Amino acid sequence: MPIFGDVDIQPTNCLILALVDKLEEDRRKKAANVVTDPFLPCHEDHNHESDVWCQDCKQTYCNDCDRTVCHRSKVLRRHKRVPVSLRPVREIPACPIHPEKDASYVCLIILNQNQLFPDPTCSATIYCTLCQKARTHKGHKSKKIEEHLESNRKKLDELHNRITVSVNVLKKKSNDSEEAWKTFVDKEKIASGRKKIEDYHNRQLELALSRYDNWVEVMKEEFHEEHIKCSADWHLQERILKRVSNKRMRKDTLYDINSIMEESIRNVADEEKTYPTLQDYDFPDGMGPIGPVVVRRNDDRTIPVEMPVQRAPDPVPEQLDAPGNPVVIDVGDEVVVDVAEDDDI
Ligand SMILES: [Zn+2]
Ligand SMILES: [Zn+2]
Ligand SMILES: [Zn+2]
Ligand SMILES: [Zn+2]
Repeated sequence: MPIFGDVDIQPTNCLILALVDKLEEDRRKKAANVVTDPFLPCHEDHNHESDVWCQDCKQTYCNDCDRTVCHRSKVLRRHKRVPVSLRPVREIPACPIHPEKDASYVCLIILNQNQLFPDPTCSATIYCTLCQKARTHKGHKSKKIEEHLESNRKKLDELHNRITVSVNVLKKKSNDSEEAWKTFVDKEKIASGRKKIEDYHNRQLELALSRYDNWVEVMKEEFHEEHIKCSADWHLQERILKRVSNKRMRKDTLYDINSIMEESIRNVADEEKTYPTLQDYDFPDGMGPIGPVVVRRNDDRTIPVEMPVQRAPDPVPEQLDAPGNPVVIDVGDEVVVDVAEDDDI
């Protein structure tokens, strides 16, 4: 029912609205067809790729322009249109001198511009059989145009393949390099690299500390054994000394000292050994290949005055400031044993 009582208004409005819709749809379709630099531009819009060839207009169109613009009217709709691939293409051009005839030859003298002395009598690159009869290119190196086109087609095919390969390779290179570049900007990825370094150093630290702990264990065992051995030697020597003293004091068995002499034949105190404390060690490469080294220190054992560089694998390496003099046993005197410290001989 007409709202305003005027029955003519509604159909007119509907027609206009339909037209507007149609225009809008056309506009959208046209926009969707737009390509930059099409192979064969549509005659209606040079940014469209052609789909059909009209034999009557002698033009190519895209499907949309063909249907909606160019061949819309009843008369034009009768035009014969074929797929663009069936468009007749004249690959062999006309002779420039005799346009009514197809060219049959290519003059290579003119074609190769780098020829030193092009013949002035030859004025066109391609020529027909009439030109040939007129001897315009007499003595010029020429080629049949079909052969020349075929050879050019092959050259273009090869070039196309070669450039396609380079395009793909370069596209990949460009993408790959961009991807790589972006990772060096990405804060998260940078942080993950730092984390790897941290992890590595933490592992190294754990390793070094465990090497240190093992070394401490080994040293502890060896020094303990050494202490037991020295202590036993010391007590043995003390007992011998006591017997020697008795012998000297009592004098009644002086005629026989063989057993005592035999027993004390090993002078253990002659072995020179030093015993660095744990504080005498430094670890210049953090328990790396150099390992723990004994450093020369001042008397207060605090300031290293010299750092030996050789490795000290020996658990009892050469100590430079021996903590004390070895025990001196002199059987010719009274008791002269230095027993100030347990660890010292
Ligand atoms: Zn047409
Ligand atoms: Zn078009
Ligand atoms: Zn000609
Ligand atoms: Zn020529």
